[in-house]
Amino acid sequence: MQHLKDLIREVLDFPKPGINFYDITTLLKDPGGFREVINCLSAHYRSTPIDVVLGIEARGFIIAPAVAYALGYGFVPVRKEKKLPAERERIEYALEYGTDVLEIHRDAISPGQNVLIIDDVLATGGTAAAVARLVEMLNGKVAGLGFILELDFLKGREKLAGYDVHSLLHY
Ligand code: AMP
Repeated sequence: MQHLKDLIREVLDFPKPGINFYDITTLLKDPGGFREVINCLSAHYRSTPIDVVLGIEARGFIIAPAVAYALGYGFVPVRKEKKLPAERERIEYALEYGTDVLEIHRDAISPGQNVLIIDDVLATGGTAAAVARLVEMLNGKVAGLGFILELDFLKGREKLAGYDVHSLLHY
């Protein structure tokens, strides 16, 4: 997996001092790298019961639909506040400073459906935990949470205890 790590650009002090930003655009533009990441992530879920794949705005919108396509499922977007046009469910969650809101269409998930959540990076886990909650507010079941890369030292996995959490790369 080192060859995939080599395709991810690390940008120090972005978007603010002290943050080491993992920039996946350099991986995405590599034809072999993009394909391998989508194939490897998808392979993990081949025998998992899934009804729909959910992606989180914005970088999740690049990865999750590709995984949905590879596995043959539909795609559901979770968006920032006031972007979705129809009836919405919302969740407000804590950031380092302040709060943020994510929304999903109420009819995007039917009760009992198995939902695979896909995003690019698992950092503190706050976003992923909020989205898992959003799925459960609609009475969906979280089939798993998949990421390209996980920042182990931030212990985001602890916020996702009880769920199947899978990351291709660990830092
Ligand atoms: P978190 O809620 O802390 O797990 O992170 C939320 C989102 O912020 C992740 O899905 C990433 O898209 C992005 N993110 C957080 N930290 C980083 C980082 N160091 N490099 C790249 N993206 C990040």
